Amino acid sequence: MNAADAVTDALRELHTRYAGLRDGRLADYIPQLALADPGAFGLALVSMDGHRYSTGDADLPFTVQSVSKPFVYALALSLLGLDEVCRWVGAEPSGEAFNAISLEPDTGRPANAMVNAGAIVTTALVPDTRDAPRFDRILGFLGRFAGRRLDVDEQVYASEALTGDRNRALAYLVRSAGPLPVDPVAAVETYFRQCAVRVTALDLAAMAATLANGGVNPLTGDAVVPEPVAAHVLAVMATCGMYDVSGDWLLRVGLPAKSGVSGGLIAAGPARFGLATYSPLLDPAGTSVRGHLAIDALSERFGLHLMHNPALAASTVTMVTTADDLPAAPAGERERAHHERVAVVAAQGALDFTAAERVLYALDESGPQETAAVVLDLRPVTDIDTVARAMLRSGLDRLTAGGRRVAVADPAGRLVEEGDEAGAARRFASREEAVDWCASGRAG
Ligand code: GLU
Repeated sequence: MNAADAVTDALRELHTRYAGLRDGRLADYIPQLALADPGAFGLALVSMDGHRYSTGDADLPFTVQSVSKPFVYALALSLLGLDEVCRWVGAEPSGEAFNAISLEPDTGRPANAMVNAGAIVTTALVPDTRDAPRFDRILGFLGRFAGRRLDVDEQVYASEALTGDRNRALAYLVRSAGPLPVDPVAAVETYFRQCAVRVTALDLAAMAATLANGGVNPLTGDAVVPEPVAAHVLAVMATCGMYDVSGDWLLRVGLPAKSGVSGGLIAAGPARFGLATYSPLLDPAGTSVRGHLAIDALSERFGLHLMHNPALAASTVTMVTTADDLPAAPAGERERAHHERVAVVAAQGALDFTAAERVLYALDESGPQETAAVVLDLRPVTDIDTVARAMLRSGLDRLTAGGRRVAVADPAGRLVEEGDEAGAARRFASREEAVDWCASGRAG
């Protein structure tokens, strides 16, 4: 094995570790799936920058099966909105197998869109018009997630259409229970076709990466779904994507995921990566045995568990002091007498909610009793997101409303833009100028 890069090396190592494992069984309730090569094993990862990493049979086509469900759910959410979709399909983990009769007793509403009953209703919710037939919409949409045109494995479709009576029965049950605006029975055949769409592990990694990337395909730049839709789909994947083992999966692996009976498995690291494996030998919950082990190991190795976010070692606030402790600009000597009255707080890095809270806390602690003015030095800050900007601006407004002079050293205009000094805080290119302005205010 030649050394490639850290990610490919990790994928190769996992491939080598688990390739020899023969545990699990091929799904055979759809007869064509039992013809899969039990030795096939591929892994792929797509980053938010669209970098693709893969090993093993990552280019081998197989049918998407239930891994289609989150993407068709995304389509329904984009077309109808969250509230409308939730009227017909719930978002509660059923704790049951993929083909269970998970219907609310009083309304007949399926528990969630990841179990078959909910997925069939979701497919039924996709509008079916002469110009845009339901299946064409779905196929085109799945292709946009993958970043290429996809097609259908007609043999697998025919095989499931011949044997899919349980899914038909589920659809009849749903229809008998509630006043659905659409016909789930008519949609079952479309659901079978959707499950028979052919993909590779690399396609699935790109599809998962698109969800992780706020709905924008990192390979093509295509904004496939709005960011809130991607977030909602990931949330349902996290709680329901692995059927009756969803809780254990979230506990141990800690990533939104979706399994399928043909052996595909995806996991998404929000804002980080899309990951997919293919290996058709399944455990009793219908999860790929090797895929499960590989993703679990990768999560452990790279610290990918969503809830595992140890406090960042890098500090946001680098300094809290008063200006008399800092070197003054020559022009500022005049005001030097007042420098002990000017607090200085410096921050660095990318500012989000957590970082903004730290900065605001430091500003509050910077001595409201003793200092009449405060300088917020943002020069080493690399980015401020919209949440942090709103928090900081209102925090600064509060300080000025409390009678303090506030100046921001912000040459790049990240917090206070050019010509936008609506707030009471003044912007300066350097810390010295900001300090002098604050001190001269006192002097004057
Ligand atoms: N087409 C399959 C079914 O409905 C998908 C199930 C799965 O992948 O979990 O039975």
